[in-house]
Amino acid sequence: LAYFRDRQVLVLGLGRSGRAAATALTAAGARVCALDDDPGSRARARAAGLAVADSAPEDLGEVAALILSPGIPHTHPAPHPLAARAHDAGLPVICEVDLMLKARPRATVVGITGTNGKSTTTALLGHLLAIAGRPAAVGGNLGTPALELPDPGPDGVHVLELSSYMLELVPSLTCGVAVLLNIAPDHLERHGGMDGYVTAKRRVFAPAHPNLPLPAAVIGIDDATTAGLHDALALESGRRVIPVSHGTPPLGGVGRRDGWLIDATGETPVKVVELARCPALKGRHNVQNAAAAVAAGRLLGLDHATLAKGLQSFPGLAHRQEMVATLDGITFINDSKATNADATATALACFEDVYWIVGGRPKSDGLAGLEPFYPRLRHAFLIGEAEDAFAATLTGAVPFTRCGTLDRAVPEAFARARAEGVANPTVLLSPACASWDQFADFNARGDAFKALVHRLSGKPENDL
Ligand code: ADP
Repeated sequence: LAYFRDRQVLVLGLGRSGRAAATALTAAGARVCALDDDPGSRARARAAGLAVADSAPEDLGEVAALILSPGIPHTHPAPHPLAARAHDAGLPVICEVDLMLKARPRATVVGITGTNGKSTTTALLGHLLAIAGRPAAVGGNLGTPALELPDPGPDGVHVLELSSYMLELVPSLTCGVAVLLNIAPDHLERHGGMDGYVTAKRRVFAPAHPNLPLPAAVIGIDDATTAGLHDALALESGRRVIPVSHGTPPLGGVGRRDGWLIDATGETPVKVVELARCPALKGRHNVQNAAAAVAAGRLLGLDHATLAKGLQSFPGLAHRQEMVATLDGITFINDSKATNADATATALACFEDVYWIVGGRPKSDGLAGLEPFYPRLRHAFLIGEAEDAFAATLTGAVPFTRCGTLDRAVPEAFARARAEGVANPTVLLSPACASWDQFADFNARGDAFKALVHRLSGKPENDL
């Protein structure tokens, strides 16, 4: 980050990644102006030892860059005023991940994006590299901010989960391997519509300069948008493209046949692992994630035996179809991370006789696309800001109870599942909504669900 020494840099948004950026830039000798509109975030940043400014400079003429927290809008729907000024002044507007890439220009980067499955695939690839004994730094949008990741050294790999918001703010990104899992409508208001969203996702495949090598591309072909992108990428000369699917292995790609994950990237297809032996990779969506991780792992030189071992021992991530407990034959599943209808569709496809807890702060397309799963729903329990809208959507199609909060929804769902007495019912929290109306984030929402389930059992948490 020597470039920033003695230069003025604005850091807007002092969450974890903003604080990491401000700290690294200060250490590099930059004159950092750290800003946040929220008094609570300012206080936390000050408590962490940062000098926080009260307002941005009048004149941006001396400023070298704006480091923007990816959550802050800078184009759509209404740009933050400082981001708009920075764009008008022609300043580089980048995020903390870009600083890390500048600080480690030789890093081998695997960038992982997609509407759903990013965190699972990132964690899974990290696990596969760990089993292989290969030094790796795993983070980005998931877990640790990029700048705080220990440098894994010249033979190591940076595995970065990259959101669409981040991808708009990483001009220095040139992945060695770029993974795009799937694209479904999400965050459209921030990208000015589907085209803007796809453009942001595509950035993962682009080199930072036209004269740099094209990243090898691993791309899901199970939805029409990514299938089209695959065909376009495959036409580019000098680019290795590996298609992956939750279905039949595509030509030259990775997929599933007869219950096995098959690597068909080489001359002869290889049976990598029997999926029934991979407890954390249940469901067809996880076949897509596993196929992508295997393709990326092969590109990084991992052998099939190591991949098989890692796929079987992967522990999975909390809040993604996480099995919480079985009480009186009723299974409780925490899928708090399902923050859009597409992710919820994934979960509903995995269960029958579902007592569904749904709601929160809704996305622009609400429950669109979930109609085919209505026959699996015994009853819906509505919570959060989405209640009115979802009640209107479900009226006449799925019986529902308006519960307001999770505290009410969990016992109500349990009571109804017990009373109806169907075989093997599931109480599923899969909200299809953001959590911010009632919780700090999806982790807090999932933790609250788990605590409520444990309360139902009347047993201490670790006894379940
Ligand atoms: P992300 O980091 O992209 O939000 P996660 O791995 O955290 O993705 O998974 C979020 C939710 O999306 C999970 O609860 C799961 O139900 C669903 N999901 C996971 N992988 C996929 C996939 N490949 N396709 C569709 N849905 C998925």
